Amino acid sequence: MAKIVILGGGYAGMMAATHLEQLGESFTLVNAHEYHYLTTLLHEAAGGRSDVHNYCIPIRDILTKRTSELVVDKVKTINRENRTVTLENGELSYDYLVYAIGWVPEFFGIPGLAEYSLGIRDLESAKEIRQHIEECFKKYKETQDSRDLRIVVGGAGLTGIELLGELMEFLPQLCQQLDIDFSLVDVQCIEAMPSILPQVAPPLRDVAAKTLTDKGAKLRIGIKILKVEPNKVILEGADPVEASTIIWTGGVRANPLLQELGFTCDRRGRAKVTPYLQSVDDERIFIGGDSAWCDDEQGRPLPPTAQVATQMGTTIAKNLHALVHGHKEEMKSFRPSLKGTLASLGREVGVGDMGGIPVRGMVASLAKEATKVKYLWELGGMRLTAEKTQQVVQL
Ligand code: NAD
Repeated sequence: MAKIVILGGGYAGMMAATHLEQLGESFTLVNAHEYHYLTTLLHEAAGGRSDVHNYCIPIRDILTKRTSELVVDKVKTINRENRTVTLENGELSYDYLVYAIGWVPEFFGIPGLAEYSLGIRDLESAKEIRQHIEECFKKYKETQDSRDLRIVVGGAGLTGIELLGELMEFLPQLCQQLDIDFSLVDVQCIEAMPSILPQVAPPLRDVAAKTLTDKGAKLRIGIKILKVEPNKVILEGADPVEASTIIWTGGVRANPLLQELGFTCDRRGRAKVTPYLQSVDDERIFIGGDSAWCDDEQGRPLPPTAQVATQMGTTIAKNLHALVHGHKEEMKSFRPSLKGTLASLGREVGVGDMGGIPVRGMVASLAKEATKVKYLWELGGMRLTAEKTQQVVQL
């Protein structure tokens, strides 16, 4: 029987695993943790809406068959000639590999950014943002230092804007708890491009900007972050900003391992795949999620989103199933069905489009909550949806 190893239990890896399980294949899934976490919702935890643990699911609750092996370990390297994966604590051999170990922050070589900023990378880092802000605000009570009440968010893409939405709801509550005048709080989002949220239509960008500025956030557009020092952000053409909290949401790139191993990669380190989602350099390796460089029908690279990643995971499972049973001709080209983009702006409102139809306000927010339920259903069917919905859906 062919030995299938899946690297990474994110959106693409988990979806490949659940579908392989349904197709009766046995496999080994390697993941850094015993749980899968809902990365796209971690801004909610960072902004204080809900506890980080509500956004993680034990993998053993999702993959229930004995033929699905879970190895909790980290990938160090891959030897394509010998078909082995070296882990921090062992080695695995494979006949077919699913590579889906996701992203790392893109720092664009900006000095000090990696060292002196926080980011939403995983459960721990999301928790750290919330705790750090709480500590700074408590410190302000003693120091009266205005820097302790200043937060800089670098980047106004979906991550930055969704995080701001959460913060602008959380911070007034925190101020009330700590008896701090909220008007003293200074939240600045600094964006290099001429507008926020390029993923949505311009009128919706205006709605998002107004929603956030009405709540007190400052959107500083067309200003580039050049350098970060401890508690200080250096900007192009504007005065430096001193702040005790600096959060970077300026983009993502694929894990550098792919480039180190000589795969054909794009400028974001993603490895080129065939229409069947196999590496163009090695047909035994399928690549999914934020690690895959896959063009749409117009030849533009697909964005590194959870929506694309989950659909890739499903296609990979089906193609792998066909391949291991000698039915290569049954493999299907990946055809993503993009349903739109939704950005939350806090708990109750959002903006976005659903199948090309613009949505805003509570409708967008409800639609976003519905996508959470849809994902739980796809991942673990009725049982997981029933168990988990209450923890991740907040109405
Ligand atoms: P992004 O690349 O979409 O946005 C980063 C922003 O940071 C950009 O607007 C960029 O101009 C800005 N930036 C970069 N360098 C800068 C600098 N030096 N100074 C100031 N601004 C700078 O990154 P993201 O928001 O982390 O999203 C990553 C991917 O994940 C995207 O494909 C996104 O669509 C996806 N995502 C989707 C959702 C959702 O569907 N709700 C949520 C989060 C992320």
